[in-house]
Amino acid sequence: MDTKTEFMEEQQMFGHPKGLFYLFFAELWERFSFYGMRALLTLYMVNVIFEALVARDYAAAAVYSSYGSLVYASTVIGGRISDTILGMRKSIFLGGVLMALGHFVLAIENNMAFYLALALIVVGNGFFKPNISTFVGALYKDGDPRKDSGFVIFYMGINIGGFAAPLLCGWLGSEYGWHYGFGLAGIGMLTGLIFFWNGIRKNVFGDKGMPPSEAVLEKKVVGVKQKVLVPVLACAAAPVIAFLLSSYRPLGAEGSFFEDQNIVNVIFKLVGVTILLYLGYIMFKATLDERKKLFMAVLITFFMTIFWGFHELSGSVITLFAERNVNLSIVDAAQTNALNSMYIIILSIPISLLFTYLSKKKLNPRTPYKFGMGLAFAGISFYILALSGGSADENGMVPFSYLLIMYFLISVGELFMSPVGLSKITDLSPKRIVAFMMGVWFLSSAFAFQVVGFIGKQLAVESTDANVGGFESLDIYINGFELIAQYALGAAVIVLVTAPLMKRLMGDVH
Ligand code: GLN
Repeated sequence: MDTKTEFMEEQQMFGHPKGLFYLFFAELWERFSFYGMRALLTLYMVNVIFEALVARDYAAAAVYSSYGSLVYASTVIGGRISDTILGMRKSIFLGGVLMALGHFVLAIENNMAFYLALALIVVGNGFFKPNISTFVGALYKDGDPRKDSGFVIFYMGINIGGFAAPLLCGWLGSEYGWHYGFGLAGIGMLTGLIFFWNGIRKNVFGDKGMPPSEAVLEKKVVGVKQKVLVPVLACAAAPVIAFLLSSYRPLGAEGSFFEDQNIVNVIFKLVGVTILLYLGYIMFKATLDERKKLFMAVLITFFMTIFWGFHELSGSVITLFAERNVNLSIVDAAQTNALNSMYIIILSIPISLLFTYLSKKKLNPRTPYKFGMGLAFAGISFYILALSGGSADENGMVPFSYLLIMYFLISVGELFMSPVGLSKITDLSPKRIVAFMMGVWFLSSAFAFQVVGFIGKQLAVESTDANVGGFESLDIYINGFELIAQYALGAAVIVLVTAPLMKRLMGDVH
């Protein structure tokens, strides 16, 4: 390494590598685009794309679920291609460009363009999201104690984007039209790319994020250099994914096994079984100590899936509930999507300080207890929403305060689980498969969207009336929220009761 690079690598800002702040702003704007679009997505589908269908809620729930599952599953492939061919920098660029393109295509009002746009975001996110997260880790040497707080700062960036976007894109969407909202999301993504580009120009990343070797980029496969082949195949994947997204209808007739299953549902079931079999095989070959830890890693990923399965309802069922049955004055339904991020911004530092304080006092609860509590918070949050039915006015509208409390509770739950689980996965996985386990961790969000789709279809209101609402939808939602609360609390009880047993599986990992 020459002295210049070494000097550049040591550039610091607020006690962290300077590169962190460029990644912070790049991710802030990428999440701005992601969550700005997500805030409008379900309402756009119900009111525009599927406007004429009686089963428009069903169709919207199915597409939202397929989109969410694929957008997180693609990160496994994007991470792998980055490791073996492109490196993080090129992957982030490719991903960012595809995502920006997706948002701009979404600004075109046309059904074909709609699915293609979502598909471009799926592929783009696959290259962007896992690599920018790994890039943060790569800025710190192994064992650097600043790494955890680096991730807390990065998570803040994510949520600043997640907070501002629904407010601004939601406002543009309702005031000027959907396309302005989607267009702003696209501009957000371009802004993120400019921040990242600036970081590279100013050499704040040192030698991090380069491809594994020049040779691998230049290597020809079927006569084409890999550095050209990857973007070409990424673009070619978009129409295929668009087709999968548009296949929201069930594959079989009523009464058959496939009555509620579309192609994406079936694919995810097969992928799930394959991964479980593969994990079983790995465990079989592992040592006893590794086996116990892997089993624990699988368990926490499983419970995280349940949590996200309820949490990610915010962009679908809860947005529709807000639109149809919540008395809103300051914000509109799309804008209520900002609440989760708002609470994360407020709570993440106090909660991380609380855990550090408890650690010093040797009172920090072990991971299974935190997970149990996280699920309990999710359960109580949905119970609060279910209770809102009792305060409905004569039009079937409930007070906004219920939604405010619900988001507060589920955000506390998120902070008890998501950042904790992320670091435990690395501790619990044998080093040779840690990257694979990270992929499995991201897949927990992908599978969660299958849960979201299942619930969304159950809570679909059948109507073509643009102003459907009142007690017709309220009853459906309230019953659904009560059931969700029971499932989440049931899961919490299982985790908390078996926590002493899990302690034995985790060994010295706290
Ligand atoms: N809100 C977080 C993010 O956008 C986590 C979302 C998830 O994994 N489901 O990065």
